[in-house]
Amino acid sequence: MQNTVTPTHCPYCALQCGMNLTPEQDGSVAVVERPDFPVNRGALCGKGRTAPAVLSSSVRLTTPLVRNAGVLEPATWEEALGRIADALSRTRTEHGPDACGVFGGGGLTNEKAYTLGKFARVVLGTSQIDYNGRFCMSSAAAGGIKAFGLDRGLPFPLEDIPKTGCVILVGSNLAETMPPALRYLTELKANGGKLIVIDPRRTRTAEQADLHLAPRPGTDLALALGLLHLVVAEGRTDEAYIQERTSGWEEARAAAMAHWPELVERITGVSVPQLRETVRLFCEPESAMVLTARGPEQQSKGTDTVGAWINLCLATGRAGRPLSGYGCLTGQGNGQGGREHGQKADQLPGYRKLDDPAARRHVAEVWGVDPDSLPGPGRSAYELLDALGTDIRSLLLMASNPVVSAPRAAHIEERIKSLDFLAVCDVVLSETAALADVVLPVTQWAEETGTMTNLEGRVLLRRRAITPPEDVRSDLEVMHELASRLGVEKGFPTDAEEIFEELRRASAGGPADYSGITYRRLAEENGVFWPCPAEAPEPQQADAGTPAPPASKPLPGTASATAQDGEDAALDLWPDDPASEAEPRAAAAAHPGTPRLFLDRFATPDGRARFVTVTHRPLAEEPDDEYPVLLTTGRVVSQYQSGAQTRRVDELNAAAPSAFVELHPRLAERLGAKEGDPLAVVSRRGRATAPARITTSIRPDTVFMPFHWPGEGRANTLTNPALDPTSRMPEFKACAVRVELAP
Ligand code: SF4
Repeated sequence: MQNTVTPTHCPYCALQCGMNLTPEQDGSVAVVERPDFPVNRGALCGKGRTAPAVLSSSVRLTTPLVRNAGVLEPATWEEALGRIADALSRTRTEHGPDACGVFGGGGLTNEKAYTLGKFARVVLGTSQIDYNGRFCMSSAAAGGIKAFGLDRGLPFPLEDIPKTGCVILVGSNLAETMPPALRYLTELKANGGKLIVIDPRRTRTAEQADLHLAPRPGTDLALALGLLHLVVAEGRTDEAYIQERTSGWEEARAAAMAHWPELVERITGVSVPQLRETVRLFCEPESAMVLTARGPEQQSKGTDTVGAWINLCLATGRAGRPLSGYGCLTGQGNGQGGREHGQKADQLPGYRKLDDPAARRHVAEVWGVDPDSLPGPGRSAYELLDALGTDIRSLLLMASNPVVSAPRAAHIEERIKSLDFLAVCDVVLSETAALADVVLPVTQWAEETGTMTNLEGRVLLRRRAITPPEDVRSDLEVMHELASRLGVEKGFPTDAEEIFEELRRASAGGPADYSGITYRRLAEENGVFWPCPAEAPEPQQADAGTPAPPASKPLPGTASATAQDGEDAALDLWPDDPASEAEPRAAAAAHPGTPRLFLDRFATPDGRARFVTVTHRPLAEEPDDEYPVLLTTGRVVSQYQSGAQTRRVDELNAAAPSAFVELHPRLAERLGAKEGDPLAVVSRRGRATAPARITTSIRPDTVFMPFHWPGEGRANTLTNPALDPTSRMPEFKACAVRVELAP
């Protein structure tokens, strides 16, 4: 134990709630409130409160496992690492480097994500790396880059939400996915602001709304276009703003005008009066925001849908202005940082593009390799998983459980089984790890130090608070050892801060510039918003009221401010670290970080935001006579993603023990189903069964299943892997099914 109280952050979602960990007599830790962290001000959901239970769970992996005669058996690290290195080496020799695949996760720290991308490209020489964050936020990222030239989940801090005039929340159930964030919406309403929630279900979040729109799943794009049509028709556009700060308006306007209200009512099921009321509530106040989450994003037209919502913001002058803008509520703990530092198929650290020659040169120089040796972009997550056992013969997988979380999961499970070799690093024997040839037990969260980047773009420091079990090692040690066995002796350190120092250099000058951030600053400032270059901006670029730091280099596309005004300094974290007693390992940089983006200009070459020209199109799979109902999927408050960790916590399992099928009483009556009756939900990809949960809070043409469980109730057995052409995001949110009473 290193400190009596260790301030750190929750291991789960992108809110990255602050928490303090205190030691218990038995060597474990207890979670206590950390009110000084501004994002959650001490509040935690049940997942965060119970997070330590996973570390001491009886099913925690505490020794490597290797498969002998079909059975996973305990082994030494030497043997386990040797088997992985031999398999990867053999695959590379026999089939070429691209036959080695790497699959990461949005829960990995920035240091791990960075090292995993480097490991794939430098050690294995493979282009075949992607991560499960592709399933989470890639459509919002693609939409943001198209319109603004930059992707950061929220371009403003959460603290701005209660001060705006109106929030349209699209496809987000904050009350269940990140409950402490709900207070931003209740404060908005208390301040007189209006909340509009768009969701096919009347969720606990929708119940808070001044106006709830329940469109048919998959029609968010038409809905946004219909609202823009009304904005134009009612003369509510901000012509001066459009002229001064945007491009592409005429084409986008023409496309929107083809989506007249009565047509949109027919497509979406949202009435014309509701559309008009939405426009009124959004346009009347001086400021307003649109926030999207997985609902509109996890569609085969997710990028266009995000673009349509951004168009609405741009046409009304509600982007790049104080208390206004478009933002995405990223889901996974490090969904943001994970996509910035190189584990995504097409990216290099700093959110650089892998096919950009200048980016390749910069990163190759930091890595000490020839730029021409770096492979090009690889397959996206679903495409990579779909190629297992054919083009990809061996896979190294970290922090992901695609047997439960991938679309068309039964097919992906078969692809995984057809691999020549699978190695998995995890904390428990997940459903995917159970199929592996080698399983490595790795440290988690409270047992290690590293940085995460939350949904606001706030880079945070997670601190080690507890000693891991004896035979457990970190993912960083795993990559160090494998690199060494595969002939790369240097460049893969095991110390997180040392890796972060390299990441700073690799990201310098890139869109996600971390070069001015140090561990010391993260501890003292309670997080720093990127971009944060090593040099400070010109004094006039700082926010009003922010003391101007001394230095010179302006930061295109941004306006800067202090990360946390008035925050107390954090505790001294490294009393045994000589660096903390004298100087930090790197000199503290003067740039204050960038809580609010785009106030001066957007991050496009000409500084203007770009309207995108989009039109409605149907789902990849519309209902028909054989599959007449729509299935939508999502989360419940007491489980997290594939449930690999939360399903191991008794308290959470007691609250949410298994899958269910939520359906409207009218549909239940047609089926002859009563509450609790077992239902079979069947799609073209498979069949899942779970008990009926009958409620008027869902549309009669739609059923809902949470996706946290394997086996009979696995919702992703049913989901459609149809991909968005730009983001390569699968269409998790809507597919055609039939529902019947299970025998
Ligand atoms: Fe906060 Fe998310 Fe953790 Fe819950 S799961 S405590 S909302 S970070």
